[in-house]
Amino acid sequence: MLSHAAKILARSRFAIAFTGAGISAESGVPTFRGFNGLWKRYRPEELATPEAFQMNPNLVWEFYRWRMKKILEAKPNPAHYSLAELERLGIIKAVITQNVDDLHREAGTRNLVELHGNIFRVKCTSCDYRENLKEGGRVNEFVESRELPKCPRCGSPLRPDVVWFGETLPKDALEKAFNLAERADVVLVIGTSGVVYPAAYIPYIVKEHGGRVIEVNVERSGITPIADVFLRGKAGEILPKILELVRELR
Ligand code: NAD
Ligand code: ZN
Repeated sequence: MLSHAAKILARSRFAIAFTGAGISAESGVPTFRGFNGLWKRYRPEELATPEAFQMNPNLVWEFYRWRMKKILEAKPNPAHYSLAELERLGIIKAVITQNVDDLHREAGTRNLVELHGNIFRVKCTSCDYRENLKEGGRVNEFVESRELPKCPRCGSPLRPDVVWFGETLPKDALEKAFNLAERADVVLVIGTSGVVYPAAYIPYIVKEHGGRVIEVNVERSGITPIADVFLRGKAGEILPKILELVRELR
């Protein structure tokens, strides 16, 4: 199975990767499903919503500061690094991710499409002000603060620049992802349950356009029924093996 997947990738013309929270699980960033009561017994679905922010912005910010802190402690794992290396080799042309943790970028992926935003970016709730806290060197100061962050331009509350439950995805990222999916002859799907739409359409678009689907997951998902190759196991163990086999085949 592994060698079959490696052969498909090595012979591909335009391969892409599509990743979910599962690829970061081995870095210590919990998936929402594996989250159970990790923070004050709340479920993420109760906090990562516009309604929650409207009702209690301080609570939502406390949750996001806690998540930022956790993610700052996390490092990319061999799955992130293997994808970055497959891109350097010219095999993977882009990584489309549902993750907000920045770990693909940390690992060296260049062509990255973030469908659900980035936890280190903030945006104004009223005007079009946006800020990248990591690039501005403000993350630590921000994480330690307990104040409700305000827009330096208009004074309205700032919010995390991530897509919350019930919100639409950023149009430019979604368009770019769909275009990539239409062009791709192979999609490597890693660590996603395939139930969060519209992101989960991506492997289906590849398949409809005659491309092949390779999936890596510890369990079956919403994508598994259309997978040409299903590799059951941990992303951090399987991806380095695929990379090694692809290198031998080239
Ligand atoms: P998800 O829907 O992407 O599901 C996680 C998937 O990963 C599951 O199918 C699970 O079987 C699989 N998995 C778990 N450990 C794995 C491993 N070691 N190797 C391979 N596969 C593994 O994610 P979710 O947790 O249900 O979250 C839904 C949304 O919430 C995401 O799309 C994302 O926007 C956001 N989220 C992001 C992060 C992050 O940035 N790291 C973390 C949690 C949630
Ligand atoms: Zn503003």
